[in-house]
Amino acid sequence: MFFSKKLAASLSPKLAQFISLPLLRASYGFILSFASPLGWMLVQKIAGRDVFSTLYFDPLLYIYMAFATAVVFSLIGYQIGLREQMITNLALIDPLTALYNKRYFKNRLEQEFKRFKRNKSIRYALILIDLDFFKAINDTYGHQAGDSVLKSVSATIMGVCRENEIAARVGGEELCIIACGCDLAQAKHLADRIRKSIEHSHCTWQGECIKVTASLGISIAENTTENAWQIYQQADEAMYKAKQTGRNKVNVFDSLSP
Ligand code: GH3
Ligand code: MG
Ligand code: MG
Repeated sequence: MFFSKKLAASLSPKLAQFISLPLLRASYGFILSFASPLGWMLVQKIAGRDVFSTLYFDPLLYIYMAFATAVVFSLIGYQIGLREQMITNLALIDPLTALYNKRYFKNRLEQEFKRFKRNKSIRYALILIDLDFFKAINDTYGHQAGDSVLKSVSATIMGVCRENEIAARVGGEELCIIACGCDLAQAKHLADRIRKSIEHSHCTWQGECIKVTASLGISIAENTTENAWQIYQQADEAMYKAKQTGRNKVNVFDSLSP
């Protein structure tokens, strides 16, 4: 296609951020609108007319054609982009939390692993987050209150994460962050900030203030990492150690620990 997110990113990362799918499709419509006057020229040429003779060349007609089709095609493109965006969101975004869903997470994890295999100097870490005693919240306040807590925690996490940190819901009350291009110290720092933010936030449900904590496990890509899921399993193991040793804490995967 004429213009894509990749091309925009190569020109300027800021431009790529600015261009949403509707704007991108509208720009396709705008560019296509030039085909309308060109098409009319071609039709006349085929019919044996001298396109630029004063008899047939009407600048006003060409301006009208270009302007009208630019408006119509851009609007149609924008609508198509909106629908495309909606379908993409339905396919990739978790409806309850507005975080990425497991499908997107799996794909992205594979991609990051492949990228890491190509360039080992840019590492990535996984931070697995499991809410503590979440079942008790459901049992005490009801399932809807539990949903509300999940939403609130997810919003807190989104507030902490930056652009290169992808937050997804990978299970019922399990969330995961792929922190791209970061080392272990940075991953620990991020996990600590998330843990503290969750601990200090609260969710109000029917006048009640519900507080929750989370246990976090970290694993980072190493030269020895064999596949994309190994690092996830390691983060899961680390998270369970955090549970076993008191909850509301961050634990880093240690291959040497029993
Ligand atoms: P732990 O600290 O060991 O993680 O305890 P926990 O209670 O959080 O863990 P457990 O695995 O026993 O319970 C998880 C609960 O999460 C059980 C399930 O009903 C609840 N849950 C899973 N998905 C959802 C959801 O989408 N909404 C709500 N409200 N609850 C959910
Ligand atoms: Mg769980
Ligand atoms: Mg839990």
